[in-house]
Amino acid sequence: MPELPEVEAVACKLRAAEPWCRIVGCGQFRPTTMQGGGRAIGQRIVAVDRRGKHLLLRLGNGCFLRVHLKMTGNLTVAQDARMHASTVRAWFALDDGRAIVLDDPRALGRISFHEKGSEDGLFAGLGPEPFDAAFTLDHLVRAAKATKKPIKLLLMEQKAVVGLGNIYAAEALFQAAIHPARPAHRLSRPKLEALYTAIREVLGAAMSSAAMAYERPGEFSEGESFPAAVYGREGAPCLRCAGTVRRMPQGGRSTYYCPKCQK
Ligand SMILES: [Zn+2]
Repeated sequence: MPELPEVEAVACKLRAAEPWCRIVGCGQFRPTTMQGGGRAIGQRIVAVDRRGKHLLLRLGNGCFLRVHLKMTGNLTVAQDARMHASTVRAWFALDDGRAIVLDDPRALGRISFHEKGSEDGLFAGLGPEPFDAAFTLDHLVRAAKATKKPIKLLLMEQKAVVGLGNIYAAEALFQAAIHPARPAHRLSRPKLEALYTAIREVLGAAMSSAAMAYERPGEFSEGESFPAAVYGREGAPCLRCAGTVRRMPQGGRSTYYCPKCQK
């Protein structure tokens, strides 16, 4: 599933296709893909932003389109609005002949139109962006002290900080030498400081690798070119100690970790 680094890479590619023209039409092949897209017709896209895993196409009148790529979605610019790949689920035609298309083999991605001023309410459940000033060590400490949940599940919730999915949460915890099942409120401030640093480093590295992977055409999967230290390495030797990487179920997903050096 595309996580923050992959979604940011998609946003970067879209920004490179500016300047935008006016939206003159839209369509979809399934009734569930897009809600309210027709209300964007006549508007010009003025910016492409990202909030967590959501892409935001900001319109000239202050309204915006939210795009969630889900498992396999990609939002790209087609040079000719009349040409659609078979995996395109929805599109916006622009008045210069191009189109913005949602290419999505599994068809789980969603697009919705939102009124001006509705953004705060829409994203009220999301924590700060990992590279924003609002994401401080104190913020992470407060979030951790407020819950007895395992630290990995807290990271996956997107409330303490957005952007960490299954791969990058496991990698950040490995880098910080924290066992993924440790109750969040039991972690010391120095441990959380190590985690705070690891979250930014892992996501920063993942953003670089995702941006490079999106440079080439074709499908791209989450973490594809990210050099994972523990994720997907069950049974392999730990890169840091003499231990062996293990896998355990956690919150319905597989968590990878080294039981020897993650405490
Ligand atoms: Zn180890």
